Amino acid sequence: MIRTRFAPSPTGVLHLGSVRTALYCWLYARHHNGQFVLRIEDTDKERSTRENVDAILEGMTWLGLDWDEGPSYQSDREDRYREVIDQWLAEGKAYHCYCTKAELDELREKQMAAGGHVRYDGRCRDRTEPRPGVDPVVRFRNPVDGEVVVEDLVRGQVVFQNEQLDDLVIARPDGSPTYNFSVIVDDYDMKISHVIRGDDHLNNTPRQMNMLRALGVEPPVYAHLPMILGPDGSKLSKRHGAVDIREYQEQGYLPEAMLNYLVRLGWSHGDQEIFSRDEMIELFDVKDVNQSASSFNPEKLLWLNQQHILATSAPELGRQLQPFLARAGLDPADGPDPEHVATGFHERAETLLHMAASARYCYEDFDVIDEKSAKKHLRPVILEPFRVARNRLAELEHWGQTAIHEVIESAAADFDINLGKLGQPIRVAVTGGPVSPPIDVTLWLVGQERTLRRMDHAIGLIEARASASS
Ligand code: GLU
Repeated sequence: MIRTRFAPSPTGVLHLGSVRTALYCWLYARHHNGQFVLRIEDTDKERSTRENVDAILEGMTWLGLDWDEGPSYQSDREDRYREVIDQWLAEGKAYHCYCTKAELDELREKQMAAGGHVRYDGRCRDRTEPRPGVDPVVRFRNPVDGEVVVEDLVRGQVVFQNEQLDDLVIARPDGSPTYNFSVIVDDYDMKISHVIRGDDHLNNTPRQMNMLRALGVEPPVYAHLPMILGPDGSKLSKRHGAVDIREYQEQGYLPEAMLNYLVRLGWSHGDQEIFSRDEMIELFDVKDVNQSASSFNPEKLLWLNQQHILATSAPELGRQLQPFLARAGLDPADGPDPEHVATGFHERAETLLHMAASARYCYEDFDVIDEKSAKKHLRPVILEPFRVARNRLAELEHWGQTAIHEVIESAAADFDINLGKLGQPIRVAVTGGPVSPPIDVTLWLVGQERTLRRMDHAIGLIEARASASS
């Protein structure tokens, strides 16, 4: 059974890099009909917050990265960690270390002065007597020689020498377990088969493997993912723009586009760029992840967002558009169904935020018509065909796209002008600007009553202009 886990520390926002890790873990589990576990690594009590946990859960839910188990919290499992510590102490797999900070500092300085490797020298390994007045830490008795071989699915074979690894502290003086130790107890208890995580953890891996072996199990398979870089080649961070997944949600990116963009940061399948969720599940394999870091490219993300806007069904897009309309202060009760707006606007919108802003005139009157457009298109020559079109639109009993189209076409034909010559002035009158979906779709969305009112207003403007120039 393939079991992966996403194990974020809730010490900050849900970063794009973490989302990519979560995605790869999720895809790998889904591809193999395995299970995906969510584990919150909140051992750092000072920096872990409930708000950050909520942001993780909300982000994962928004993205549709559903988990089969969890969320479990390391802070709930301290008794279990202590149980293993006690067991290891009893078995001699761990020992109390009474060294003071001053002693350890002195050791480090000596080692540095000698130009050697800085590491704990194991001086308490065989100590049996407590040291009065000192609360000891607990250290893991790491093997002193031999090597640890990581057969990493991304990095290939990576070999570490045990003599380079010192005896890791697994419990602090107050008894609380440390990070690397909690991770291995969890990976063991949760029967994780594949650990997929950022390559900043590669150096922890040999220590974790040794500890898992001390528990009597073979470690899981590891895959360490390369970093995501900003355009300047340094690790992607706030300096490069938004890295918090929530910001992308608020800017109107679709979850499908985010996943598609992130899956390609470090993985490819031929030269295919656009992947549906199901295709990702079918095609993704962690073995195909690149070894080298990849760079974040906001333009490509925007492009993918447009592609996914085009590929999303109208009901779904309408559903996702709703909160953006609400945030723009627009109420669907005052205009068209958001689903219809989605269909009308999807070819032009880069984001849902942009779509909601573009559709404002469907729900709300505008104050003034764009001056340049009015000057160019609301001219006396168009007055008569414009008026005829307005009157025929007023007579329509069924406000439908085909009927609207026929009216404008017939009015244009009666005056022997092409459709666009009449359509553009109507567009300017009804939307206040020169850009909108096809004119029949636009008027249909705006509705009959608003269309006629705005056309009447434009007729007034054209008449005033005609009398001013005569
Ligand atoms: N909690 C760690 C982090 O957020 C992940 C540790 C792991 O995946 O083993 O970086």
